[in-house]
Amino acid sequence: MTPLEKDKKYIWHPFTPLEVEEDPILIESAQGVYLHTTDGRKIIDAISSWWVNLHGHCHPVIAKAIADQASKLEHVIFAGFTHLPAITLAENLLSILPKNQSKIFFSDDGSTAVEVGLKMAMQYWHNQGIKTKTKIIALEGAYHGDTFGAMAVGARDSFNVAFNNYLFEVDFIEFPTDENEAKILSDFRKLASEGNVGVFIFEPLVQGAAGMRMYSPEILDQLISIAHKHNIVCVADEVFTGFGRTGKLFASDYLQNKPDIFALSKGITGGSLPLGATSCSSKIVAMFESTESSKTLYHGHSYTANPIACAAANASFGLLTRKECFAHIERISDQHKIFAKKISTHASVVKVNHLGTILSIELRTEEKTSYENSLRKKIYAHFIERKILIRPLGNVFYLLPPYVISGDELNLIYSEIETFLNAFHCRNNGNSGQKLFLQ
Ligand SMILES: *Cc1c(COP(=O)(O)O)cnc(C)c1O
Repeated sequence: MTPLEKDKKYIWHPFTPLEVEEDPILIESAQGVYLHTTDGRKIIDAISSWWVNLHGHCHPVIAKAIADQASKLEHVIFAGFTHLPAITLAENLLSILPKNQSKIFFSDDGSTAVEVGLKMAMQYWHNQGIKTKTKIIALEGAYHGDTFGAMAVGARDSFNVAFNNYLFEVDFIEFPTDENEAKILSDFRKLASEGNVGVFIFEPLVQGAAGMRMYSPEILDQLISIAHKHNIVCVADEVFTGFGRTGKLFASDYLQNKPDIFALSKGITGGSLPLGATSCSSKIVAMFESTESSKTLYHGHSYTANPIACAAANASFGLLTRKECFAHIERISDQHKIFAKKISTHASVVKVNHLGTILSIELRTEEKTSYENSLRKKIYAHFIERKILIRPLGNVFYLLPPYVISGDELNLIYSEIETFLNAFHCRNNGNSGQKLFLQ
């Protein structure tokens, strides 16, 4: 059997039907913004490998930190034991998180970081003997991960319909737009004032998986302010938006009112190893400060605070906090802004969203804007053929490159996108001479 035949026989890939026409692409190595295939192609990674990569693939500083740590201390139980990579990382994270954050709990990925955030918030009430604050508010269209608690606070859509009966109840408020601001605030105020809401969870400023939908810091600031007035714990899921993605270190840095709990993952190790972290404020910590077993947060994972992952995260932190890194982020943001303006009036485009290093384009189609939109596979195949990895969310496709992408590389991607938009427009207007899609 060839490696791809073995892959098909033995491996179950995420978010992928078991029967698909296309083989996965076999990657042998990666360097900077490029993925190298075994058949000699060089594909530009325009989405940072599922939103995780910050400094380019196989960054030598991170690779060395991993290698050094692997031969010194690869792993140790994290209950009753500790180690410098974790201590340093906790200190590093707290040095860049909003000042109200005071403690770090480590886990394995974004979903578990969210689970821990939810459990901290729920037990915060339990530990005070308060039994009434059981309601949870989330935003419509949210994505917080694929474990059960994370699914429960996420959109109830085709992704989790098989599990719907098993998900705990959550109140979803409308996604904020310019039009519904007053309604949202009044809905939220009404819910909050009932006195039984304990937790408000949200992806600050950008709902990634929902199609890179963006909303204003002003409205979120107002929601948090109402929540705090009614003693509701605010959980910011910065799994995607953290570590510079939005043009600031955290999306919450755009806010005046700071969330109580942060869930972090994705970019935390620069995209090299899985790691999750949940931080919380001293207000939360205070309700757990006890020797009593009943007040303990009984949560942990075998690989909690894995030293190699922590070492990778510390190396990534070093790169992220250098001046050069933010210069890159600002350059990408400036370039995106100009390109966004240029294509925003294109006949094929409904909407362009831009924040920091994220640029998303909603394509005009007859079908509904959703992940299920049939253009998803076609857009993907079109760009892969041109050696660019983008992974559309239905008819929305986006760029969120590693921060080391050069101006020329970005321009090349923009130019391919413009060609695509023009061809797409021609095709939609009956010009059959334009052979746009492969199939
Ligand atoms: C990706 C993501 C998650 C889940 O993270 P995993 O590491 O995939 O479990 C949670 N929240 C947000 C906002 C995400 O983008």
